[in-house]
Amino acid sequence: MIHNPKYECMSREDMRKLQSERLIKTVKICYEKVPFYQKKMDDMGVKPEDIKSIDDINKLPFTTKTDLRDEYPFGLEAVPHSEIRRIHASSGTTGKPVVATYTENDLAMWAEGVARVMAVANIGPGDTIQISYGYGLFTGGLGAHDGAAVRGAIQLPTSAGNTEKQIMLMQDFGATALACTPSYAMRLAEAIHDSKIVSVHQMKLRAGFFGAEPWTEGMRKELERKLQIKAYDIYGLTEMCGPGVGGECECQNGTHLWEDMFFPEIINPDTLKPCEPGEFGELVFTSLCKEAMPILRYRTRDLTRLRYEKCKCGRTAVRMDRILGRSDDMIIIRGVNVFPSQIETCLTEFPAFQPYYFITVDRIYNEDTFDLDVELKSQFFSADPQDQMKFIKPLYDRIVSMVGVKPNIHILPPYGIERSMGKAKHVNDKRNFRA
Ligand code: ADP
Ligand code: ZN
Repeated sequence: MIHNPKYECMSREDMRKLQSERLIKTVKICYEKVPFYQKKMDDMGVKPEDIKSIDDINKLPFTTKTDLRDEYPFGLEAVPHSEIRRIHASSGTTGKPVVATYTENDLAMWAEGVARVMAVANIGPGDTIQISYGYGLFTGGLGAHDGAAVRGAIQLPTSAGNTEKQIMLMQDFGATALACTPSYAMRLAEAIHDSKIVSVHQMKLRAGFFGAEPWTEGMRKELERKLQIKAYDIYGLTEMCGPGVGGECECQNGTHLWEDMFFPEIINPDTLKPCEPGEFGELVFTSLCKEAMPILRYRTRDLTRLRYEKCKCGRTAVRMDRILGRSDDMIIIRGVNVFPSQIETCLTEFPAFQPYYFITVDRIYNEDTFDLDVELKSQFFSADPQDQMKFIKPLYDRIVSMVGVKPNIHILPPYGIERSMGKAKHVNDKRNFRA
């Protein structure tokens, strides 16, 4: 079902009007309340009055992750700090984390975004949503939690980890939906299959809302089969709110973005110019109703494309293709751009392989090395190199044809690759330490 048809199915024309009104308001607030934006706009010679409609968006400055770090912790706030009701922060693997603060209305808007995604699977009263995203500063746990509350569903806040107990509760409490990262969903699926105590056939699970990291169509099929569910993508980022900036509908053909809240653009990351409709590029968002920390043209680094045709589900909200990866996740091996998600796509084409992998890149004697650890499903595993070769060869050929670089493939024993509870780490680029 559609949670909020007024916005999700608004005509394109009315949507542009709404976006224009909201953009004008947002820009005015940014200019008047946030010295950072006032300076950026002054430097570019742009005044709030120059923004007359959404068509003027490209007159505005971009915001980057570095800007957010420089303004750490509360430099981008546009309201008195006493109006803040919650603070989150993204993992920030290096240096200071990126902070997000929320007013009461911001929290409500965020929860609505998540609720719209959960509504696609008719989640409502009587449904129990097991929330296995981490609770804490990370936006996943509490984001899914508040969205489930808006739908009137039962929230089961298991957080990530303690996998054995998770699957026991999943069965005993009759969870009907699961929200977590796709990699943790895979870990849970595996634990259910290995378990002698629980069985997927005694479970009531019917839907999964997976996001916070890139995943592939192959992974979806695997999760749907293993968990006997329909698996939906949920997308988001801390800088906008957290998960729930958009989500897939029942057609599972692109992730609808909630454009009444976040205006999406696709730009060429090198020229910073807008891409042609349908062209791949970097996703950029401008928040249209955020109060605590409005953001102009935030460069997500996520690479994707947008499609504006109306969806069969009835929603008019623009659809985004699966995120290919973040531009900062891309690895250049022997001059070729490689996205970890391409490896996942190849792997999931072969039923004998698990969808787990780990890439190690190094430079030895001035030459890039590309090692790929993979796992076979336990029934196919053999330590005999000759047996292994039967599986390695077709995978090798597929990777060479898809990615264009020759990997050195190693088959590890079952569970040889570390399982993740949150966002999976897929790459160790040792060249970074060998400058
Ligand atoms: P961090 O930057 O520390 O990872 P976030 O949790 O805010 O913090 O991560 C947001 C990023 O996670 C997005 O910009 C995107 O790269 C990735 N992401 C979130 N949801 C999805 C999804 N459904 N598919 C692909 N990538 C996603
Ligand atoms: Zn749709």
